[in-house]
Amino acid sequence: MTEMTGGCACGAVRFKIAAPPMGVGVCHCLDCQKGSGGGPNYVALIPRACFEVTKGEAKVYTCQGDSGADIGRAFCGNCGSPLWSIPGEMSPFFPVKLGALDESSGMEPNLHLYTDSAQPWHLMHEGLPRFGKMPPFPPPA
Ligand SMILES: [Zn+2]
Ligand SMILES: [Zn+2]
Repeated sequence: MTEMTGGCACGAVRFKIAAPPMGVGVCHCLDCQKGSGGGPNYVALIPRACFEVTKGEAKVYTCQGDSGADIGRAFCGNCGSPLWSIPGEMSPFFPVKLGALDESSGMEPNLHLYTDSAQPWHLMHEGLPRFGKMPPFPPPA
């Protein structure tokens, strides 16, 4: 895989990713359910240094994760598309929403996290690791 690109629905914010994701996570935390508008967030875990905004500027809503660290949620201030998250300094990756990628059909989820707050109406993949809260780092590739 070479470079991946993505952006919001209206095109005001664009980004590129210079390395393959370290994995794909499905996060069922309540903040993600709010952020996605319903189901869990499907996120590609991108090495921090390989993520670059190429157009516009996302708005960031910051809240506190259960680790106590601030978590930023980047979205387009014009069209409202959820784009990526900005985890605490300790985290080696940026979680980028699969829906923000221009091409995500080749992505395969590796794990489910925060399943303690998963909704019964969302089906989970059979056979994938599930973590009630945050999984240990680094996530399985
Ligand atoms: Zn937009
Ligand atoms: Zn979450």
